[in-house]
Amino acid sequence: MKKKTAWEKYSSDDMKKVMEFSEGYKEFISSNKTEREVVKSVVDLVKQYGYKNLEDIIKNNEKVEVGDKVYSSIMGKSIVLFNIVSKDFAAGLNVLGAHIDSPRLDLKPTPLYEANGFAMLDTHYYGGIKKYQWVTTPLALHGVIVKKDGSKVEVNIGEDENDFVVGISDLLIHLSNAQMKKSGNKVVEGEDLNITIGNIPLTDDEEDKVKRNVLDILKKKYGIEEDDFMSSEIEAVPAGKARDFGLDRSMIMGYGHDDRVCAYTSLMAFLNVSNPTRNSVCLLVDKEEIGSVGATGMTSKFFENALAEVMEAMGEFSNIKLRRALSNSNMLSSDVTAAFDPNYPAVMDLNSSAFMGKGVVFSKYTGGSGKSGSNDANCEYIAKLRKVLDDNNVDFQMDELGKVDEGGGGTIAYILAEYCMNVIDCGVALHNMHSPWEVVSKADIYEMLRCYETFLKEM
Ligand code: MN
Ligand code: MN
Repeated sequence: MKKKTAWEKYSSDDMKKVMEFSEGYKEFISSNKTEREVVKSVVDLVKQYGYKNLEDIIKNNEKVEVGDKVYSSIMGKSIVLFNIVSKDFAAGLNVLGAHIDSPRLDLKPTPLYEANGFAMLDTHYYGGIKKYQWVTTPLALHGVIVKKDGSKVEVNIGEDENDFVVGISDLLIHLSNAQMKKSGNKVVEGEDLNITIGNIPLTDDEEDKVKRNVLDILKKKYGIEEDDFMSSEIEAVPAGKARDFGLDRSMIMGYGHDDRVCAYTSLMAFLNVSNPTRNSVCLLVDKEEIGSVGATGMTSKFFENALAEVMEAMGEFSNIKLRRALSNSNMLSSDVTAAFDPNYPAVMDLNSSAFMGKGVVFSKYTGGSGKSGSNDANCEYIAKLRKVLDDNNVDFQMDELGKVDEGGGGTIAYILAEYCMNVIDCGVALHNMHSPWEVVSKADIYEMLRCYETFLKEM
């Protein structure tokens, strides 16, 4: 087992690169906190690299040629990138995949109400969270409201330091005798996650004066009525930017490292390697945190459809070629995993734990209770990866998520494995997973980037 961390191999020049790369990453996660914001930024960025929109290609009946780069946005919440370097689709693809949705609190479709002089917003949490972590912390509201005429209003409240924030209250310790006796999952319950957004009443004598005042503000600022919330997707997320963590600036504390740390590094590697060994794909997908369901989740057919369209636009489509393209592919299915935490050693098996700073983490299998629900990667595939990563001096480690029968988790790996391609889970290990402020190591982010670049260049 490798004992040293990646930090110990870096020259001063490497250190500079590690720190520089992390600056771009901090900026990315600070300004892209929802799946829609990520897709929008990615589209803007890849256009600068010459990527063409697949929808336009289909609509205009255009051809795709070897050397072309194509993107397809799925409802603005998932995106797939293709780098086409060959007509030989049946040879298979190199696929990078990561998810861009993160745990948060979604507003309910009829969220606004008044209670005891406060205007409040009802939420339904998204993904697995410890609810007690989301109270007494500044929250921002991000999302879209679509009016009946189809026009779309973008909401982004609470990120500018001069902007206001919102938040959820918690009980003072002085009156918490009963609350403190509850079990952790009951201390703060789902229906208690109500966001306070206003307290000034209108001066008339009608009902709901505070709520109506808030509606007046919303009308002036966004031109929306209360009913417009019915067709909105608004997410309450931790307010504020990602920041360096630790006296030595070795780590980054930020919201939504899960899984934008793998999404950003996948994207950057994909753009850096313009000449991969074969046709390559980068999947940045929505809905992983709630089971990869829905039209924009990995279980939807969007990837297969987009690949079929690209092949069709090259005059290369046939059912059998599509199937061969998928089954002959290699994939790095990325997601974050748990880093060993000295505060909580009891849930980890020291021999099978990931450590911060020791590079990319590969998980042969995820799942729980006897590997249930996992993609168990083929050891033949792992051997090839070990070879190319060692040859390129990329630091990596093997882990499993905690002790046997301690819990477990899932990723998108098993969904792509259904095409009979080689898939393995890999990613960055972190602390505080699914909390408002997660922590990752800058060395691991950099090794992740180098791992993806090596995969695209050598596999
Ligand atoms: Mn997660
Ligand atoms: Mn994840």
